[in-house]
Amino acid sequence: MIRFEQVSKIYSGGQKALTDVSFHLRKGEMAFLTGHSGAGKSTLLKLITVIERASAGRVWINGHDIAGIDRGHVPFLRREIGMIFQNHHLLMDRSVFDNVALPLVIEGFSHGEIRKRVAASLDMVGLFGKERHNPIMLSGGEQQRVGIARAIVNKPALLLADEPTGNLDPKLSMDILRLFETFNDAGTSVLIATHDLGLIARMKYRTLTLKQGRMLGAQELATGGEPN
Ligand code: ADP
Ligand code: ADP
Repeated sequence: MIRFEQVSKIYSGGQKALTDVSFHLRKGEMAFLTGHSGAGKSTLLKLITVIERASAGRVWINGHDIAGIDRGHVPFLRREIGMIFQNHHLLMDRSVFDNVALPLVIEGFSHGEIRKRVAASLDMVGLFGKERHNPIMLSGGEQQRVGIARAIVNKPALLLADEPTGNLDPKLSMDILRLFETFNDAGTSVLIATHDLGLIARMKYRTLTLKQGRMLGAQELATGGEPN
């Protein structure tokens, strides 16, 4: 689903964000991406969604070689990816329904199809019946669920989350991770960037660790603990 081969990213100011990063997230796999602040987690996610481009190396997403992908194809790639942010980027002057419907409206789905899919998404995240609410009226955990409903409404093959539990207490964080688990059980690949090590420790998933832009231990993990 995601394959990085010796990927480096140097920002235009000369800041090295990623150095020689290689890893593979299989179709249907769920994994954590961790590392201290500044380790390169957000940069790695931005390369996947082509918000930034790699300075060197190659990236495949769901079978597409995106190293040299042209601008016109980027929207098609992004339709295959659901993105969840820490501060959920909701439109606070729109209803829950409008927020979740947005990706479908952009794609030109019919009203009937939009209603059906939005209802199904809200049902999946436990917000059925909240369509007409304004996100401002919802709790932090509920707002995060609206962001998740919006990310899955397109039925993406890959879910990416950038610190999805950053503003939530441990109980709500665990609920959100369980939610990701249900999508993963249904076949969606999931990559969750977080520095919440306590949370990671309570789950059984593989952890990819970045340190100052380098991926630690991926090789050893892939070959069952034997460093080459
Ligand atoms: P999966 O998601 O099944 O684990 P990948 O995302 O790694 O598979 O690969 C999907 C497709 O992307 C491959 O079938 C191939 O076409 C292409 N691909 C991935 N990695 C490479 C590679 N190193 N060289 C050439 N093609 C690749
Ligand atoms: P993380 O998400 O793990 O906190 P980032 O990917 O945001 O890490 O940052 C990795 C490194 O790249 C940091 O040193 C950061 O300062 C730098 N960086 C991030 N974005 C930019 C940018 N747009 N321009 C220049 N440097 C950047």
